[in-house]
Amino acid sequence: MKKTLICGGLVVTKDTIGKYDISIVGEQIEALKIHGEFSAADFDEVIDANDLIVMPGLVEPHVHFDAPFMGGKTDHDMLTGTKACAYGGITSVISFSNQGKGESLVQNVKDWDKNNSGRAYVDWSMHGLIYDASELSLHDIPELIKLGIPTYKCFTTYRHSQRLMDDDSMLKVLKTTKENGGMLMVHCEHDATCEYLKEKAITEGHTEWIYHAKTRPARAEDMAIQRVVDLMRTENAPVYIVHASTADSVRIIAQAQTDGLPIHAETCTHYMLLTDKMLERDDGYLWVCSPPLRQAHDLERLWNAAKMGPIEVVSSDDAGLPSQMRRDLCEGRFDKVPNGMPGVEPRLTMLYSKGVREHHIDLQKMVALTSTNPAKLFGLKNKGCLAPGADADICLFDPNIEWTMTASTLHMNTTFCPFEGERVVGKAKTVLCRGEVVLRDYELVGSPAHGQRVFRELEY
Ligand SMILES: [Zn+2]
Repeated sequence: MKKTLICGGLVVTKDTIGKYDISIVGEQIEALKIHGEFSAADFDEVIDANDLIVMPGLVEPHVHFDAPFMGGKTDHDMLTGTKACAYGGITSVISFSNQGKGESLVQNVKDWDKNNSGRAYVDWSMHGLIYDASELSLHDIPELIKLGIPTYKCFTTYRHSQRLMDDDSMLKVLKTTKENGGMLMVHCEHDATCEYLKEKAITEGHTEWIYHAKTRPARAEDMAIQRVVDLMRTENAPVYIVHASTADSVRIIAQAQTDGLPIHAETCTHYMLLTDKMLERDDGYLWVCSPPLRQAHDLERLWNAAKMGPIEVVSSDDAGLPSQMRRDLCEGRFDKVPNGMPGVEPRLTMLYSKGVREHHIDLQKMVALTSTNPAKLFGLKNKGCLAPGADADICLFDPNIEWTMTASTLHMNTTFCPFEGERVVGKAKTVLCRGEVVLRDYELVGSPAHGQRVFRELEY
């Protein structure tokens, strides 16, 4: 088996920071030693990590690859998405199933396996999407868990596209989740509030982009999260709140944790860095996502919640659609804009550049939020750490390189970058996934034959 040494870097994990060298044998980490203790002559390849930060490969638990939308699909599929992942330091990515309502989730996952063999630069997994508590859905949950997919998402909104899960269904799904060892992910926005405000705005002649934010207010998200918390008091199953975005959402989640409920939460890069001011631009439709971008005081609270809890994960919710298609479909109306932004590649640089360098979080917290915590929460057993026996998933991050982030300096399959024109610092330089170099000196060198679906199993 090939032996590789990563030599001279500053190793940063959730628990440690220091100058260590890492030996890799085949696909796994063999050992870590104080810098200089290994002999380079014992290795087939030595990767110089001087002046670099060496961290576990990132785990991205929230993207929408190949998600169908009105005859089109999201920007990224497995091939283009995992390529952008490699450039963003990500070595494991979890996307969502894409079956329609009434179709078998288990069959959909089997199709993903079949259709994506040889199409992933890095390792990957799926979450299920679940719309109701039909006999089929409840039957699919234990089957899905047996396939190594113990997590699935539901929505408290999107009634009009048949995706809303009502309270009756959620209680049954929570019960089945608890009995089978899964975790339910929930998109929280109170649908009736959003629908009511939308109708009202349209009736009053307001179609501007900013009304997307005004009609999906913070309180709609807070209400929906509180409702899920209250349902958990009846059926106490693990829950993961996706994209918490408001100041109060983190207060509600923290209180639920204090009460002993098994609730976890993520936020996304864009909620920590951008405000609804973006929707006041002429091209504001490009920043339409749900929940919408919030306000400055929310951002401050999210950074604090990422530092102190209860936010455990920062994901990208990568779900871009072609800009031209978005403009054509919306006809100038806020409520018709297809939702979602690309973001899988900027996540690491933005968190470092705006989070670590501006003293919101430290390096170790950045590693926890983007790698160790999502690996643990989503049952990626051998990922998210740099320990003997773990997969050699490693990101060598250059913390000194300065550059301007634009769609053209990134490698995502899109012409839109939510952080267009930002001067930033830091970039993934070299990335290994299970011992294989997929990115070398900022350039993709990996093969789409390398990435495998990871069998996930929850530990709680
Ligand atoms: Zn999403």
